[in-house]
Amino acid sequence: AQETAELLSYAPNVTPGLARITEGIMARGAGSYVEYTDGRKMLDFTCGIGVTSLGHCHPKVSAAAAEQCMQIVHAQCSIAFHAPYLGLVQRLLHMMPHPSLDSFFFWNSGSEAVEAALKLARIATGRQNIICMQGAYHGRTFGAMAVTRSKTIYSVGVAPLMPGVFTIPFPFWHQLGREPSTPTDELVKQCLYQLDLVLSQQTAPKDTAAIIVEPVLGEGGYVPTPPAFLEGLRAVCDKHGMLLIVDEVQSGFARTGRLFAIEESGVRPDIMVIAKGLANGFPLSGVVSRKDLTESLAPGSMGGTYAGNAVSCAAACAVADAMREEGILENVNARSTELFAALEAVKRAHSAAVVDVRGRGLMLAVEFAGEGVAARVAKKCVERGMIILTTSVYEVIRFIPALNISAEDLAKGAKIFQEAVDEVLR
Ligand code: PMP
Repeated sequence: AQETAELLSYAPNVTPGLARITEGIMARGAGSYVEYTDGRKMLDFTCGIGVTSLGHCHPKVSAAAAEQCMQIVHAQCSIAFHAPYLGLVQRLLHMMPHPSLDSFFFWNSGSEAVEAALKLARIATGRQNIICMQGAYHGRTFGAMAVTRSKTIYSVGVAPLMPGVFTIPFPFWHQLGREPSTPTDELVKQCLYQLDLVLSQQTAPKDTAAIIVEPVLGEGGYVPTPPAFLEGLRAVCDKHGMLLIVDEVQSGFARTGRLFAIEESGVRPDIMVIAKGLANGFPLSGVVSRKDLTESLAPGSMGGTYAGNAVSCAAACAVADAMREEGILENVNARSTELFAALEAVKRAHSAAVVDVRGRGLMLAVEFAGEGVAARVAKKCVERGMIILTTSVYEVIRFIPALNISAEDLAKGAKIFQEAVDEVLR
């Protein structure tokens, strides 16, 4: 306790620019639980924002990383290949949502990989402009922030950002001022119409390199992208020689009940961005595309000191193996059905206050009516022993538990949520 107090006395020396939803010092994690130095044990429905998808300190992943630590930690990617780098390519090739995705490079964070994807799109097409979605989140670096449209807090006081970015609405009822019951095809039609307008009024196709989209709008509200919208984007890209960049940073690696969320639509990405669940907590991200696109990259035009770190890649290899060997997808789909049912029950019990239950797999969300409700519910969950996050500028709570969570822990989390909602709405 004394050591904790001593350490916490330095907290004022950490930038207040970081938000924090729990008090104290997190000391340990195992599976779906984390422990604080003061003995609090919390059920984790955040996975460190969708990262530790196989649970905290998955034994095989941690062992693979530890083993790699004793071999080589930093075999710099512009100096030499290391075995886990190529071993990861070998594994990922078989996991891709489309066989055309056969050219990889790795980075550290989702933001950096988005930056690289944008650069690649410009280089490969010789065009400058990018079209992004209202509500999109792609990261906090300058280029990634330029295509982020989920909250102003990230960019307040920071502009000018990268120019040449155009925004179209995403088929989410909020964005078109409609009701949750609005038929999806109506929303899709309106958004594709806006895309046509942008391409005829604001950025000509021959100046437009790419459209970037999340297959599940994440920080914008946890909204699965309708397959018809993705098909529409694909068709427009094909028609005009533009590239479709699919950001699977949050939705990838079985999170939505498929290896990649884009599979639901069958749409082929030209460039796909991956991170988060890829290495279960070790910093690693990647850009995947086609060899014919990356052919135009001169050696040395891409790179980064830590990009594709050996320990992170070794962890990611173990993640890929565990995904296959441990029936992860099956568990996601079974637990998803249970969680959805539990959240629907909460909605029925509070039909005026709960506006919507949505999502895919174990990337689910509940939206409330009334200002501040989501934050109050999240706070009550923390008090009751479960960490959970809000998302977007709307009143949304998101559920991103470990993909291998047990039925028992899932039910426990659902119950904590239900009790928190009952208390807040009482
Ligand atoms: N893209 C998406 C869809 C994300 O959800 C995030 C992170 N929440 C990012 C990109 C940025 O990733 P990172 O925080 O690792 O830079």
